Amino acid sequence: MKIALIAHDRKKELMIKFATAYREILKNHELYATGTTGTKVMEATDLPVHRFKSGPLGGDQQIGAMISEDAMDLIIFMRDPLAAQPHEPDVNALIRLCDVYEIPLATNIGTAEVLIRGLQAGMLNFREIVHENNDQPISL
Ligand code: PGA
Repeated sequence: MKIALIAHDRKKELMIKFATAYREILKNHELYATGTTGTKVMEATDLPVHRFKSGPLGGDQQIGAMISEDAMDLIIFMRDPLAAQPHEPDVNALIRLCDVYEIPLATNIGTAEVLIRGLQAGMLNFREIVHENNDQPISL
């Protein structure tokens, strides 16, 4: 799976804790990140991370481009809901594209943990919904 990691400045420590705690799961996947987040995650975990530009300089849009090409499977985005971001339009565009392409997106640590544990449990195709009547997944 291709996993993108993005953390706003006041959430970077949280992202480092998350990546360190789930290193053994993350190491089995291809990691991508916005610039500064990627550097910090690489330093903390010693895992290879493909780094895009920093978020305010277009990194979110680069990740969005991968989503639109069906080349990204999971987004862990530690947003800061209490600080204005200069690149708010890019943040919103990224979230919108996740919904357009049905890409699993966590925007806080609670959801991030659920997604990463789902990944560990082998739920590799998140883009399935469970049919109400027979519990069988339906591919979208
Ligand atoms: P950064 O970008 O990882 O380069 O800090 C994240 C952001 O602020 O969108």
